[in-house]
Amino acid sequence: DSIPVLGVNITPFSSYSHAIGCIGAIIQAKGKAFSVAINPEKICRALSDQSLKKILNDADFGICDGVGTALALRILKGKAPPRITGIALFFELIQEAARQGWKVFLLGATPESNQIAGRKLLESNPSLQIVGQADGYSQFHSDTEVVRKINESGADIVFIAMGSPKQEFWIAEHRKTMNAPFCIGVGGTFDIVSG
Ligand code: UDP
Repeated sequence: DSIPVLGVNITPFSSYSHAIGCIGAIIQAKGKAFSVAINPEKICRALSDQSLKKILNDADFGICDGVGTALALRILKGKAPPRITGIALFFELIQEAARQGWKVFLLGATPESNQIAGRKLLESNPSLQIVGQADGYSQFHSDTEVVRKINESGADIVFIAMGSPKQEFWIAEHRKTMNAPFCIGVGGTFDIVSG
């Protein structure tokens, strides 16, 4: 049950394992869901950008990312779910994917950052199945081509690292045609992983 903060829905996960459990259930059921990280910057943008607000609220999960979001929930709603950061959730999901055999697709960042991130993730999670990778710059390929690549890969999770709000608009535009059960916007995560 989500809690709206200034009109943007936040999913009050009680812990990382709670979030992973909900995402895992969607993957097992071969559902179709997507998640966005809600930080104060996105809430502010959504106040004046109705299309962004709609996309954020169409998400199945709005992660309580950032101290400011957790604080807003406490002050405005008297609720105190823990902060779930996008980057920590990413690493938790990668580890769980390696354990469960969920196939992952890495979309976004520069070609170099994307490739290095994939290599580093495999070094630390040797059983991880990275079934596809594509950078986030469409001068190299069309969105249709990327969606086809994702579908052919049979990915269970698509991590989309194009920064906000670009990745949210990308997900909204392509969620219907992507077969992967779960996708999530992860911002600058691949750059952090690739160093
Ligand atoms: N990016 C991309 N395609 C674009 C613009 C940006 O793939 O058209 C990537 C960029 O290379 C970087 C990430 O998106 O890896 C944005 O990172 P940033 O830290 O700015 O995002 P935030 O976490 O603040 O949303």
